[in-house]
Amino acid sequence: MAKKGNSIIKGIEIDELISLLNRAYADEWLAYYQYYIESKVIKGIMKDAAIAELDQHAADELRHAGLIADRIIQLGGTPILHPKEWFEKTNCGYDAPKDFDVLNILEDAIKGEQCAIDVYSKIVDLTQGKDIVTYDIASQILADEVEHEEDLVSLQEDILEFVNNLKGNLR
Ligand code: FE
Ligand code: FE
Ligand code: MG
Repeated sequence: MAKKGNSIIKGIEIDELISLLNRAYADEWLAYYQYYIESKVIKGIMKDAAIAELDQHAADELRHAGLIADRIIQLGGTPILHPKEWFEKTNCGYDAPKDFDVLNILEDAIKGEQCAIDVYSKIVDLTQGKDIVTYDIASQILADEVEHEEDLVSLQEDILEFVNNLKGNLR
């Protein structure tokens, strides 16, 4: 089904796919840095458990960026070359840590993961049965983002429970 120098795979415009992948690529770098810096500045209750999670997620986001860059190149595109473009292309934006409290940081990170889940769900839907390689990569990343979101929500619940128990004991 290739047409005009493989510009279309089974009904998908390759340029459009590359552009979606570059947007996701921008998201991954911003997510990587957000986790990286959150892990440095975070303060408060159970912060060691949070730091372990944030560091693990930072490493995953950087790995995702690599998977997407490689796929963009395979498709004949160029991954974003200048960091300033991350902000022009991002779907999910960047939440600089405002106050460094663990619960605020978790809240921002959860929002970011929900956005990432949305982005990869769309890429999975678009490529299913059409571009198997991109579909596989996006599905793997989607599974990681779902796990990230669940890890953060369960940590948030543990912290809230701990805080509530403390309050109960003080009553
Ligand atoms: Fe990611
Ligand atoms: Fe993630
Ligand atoms: Mg995790």
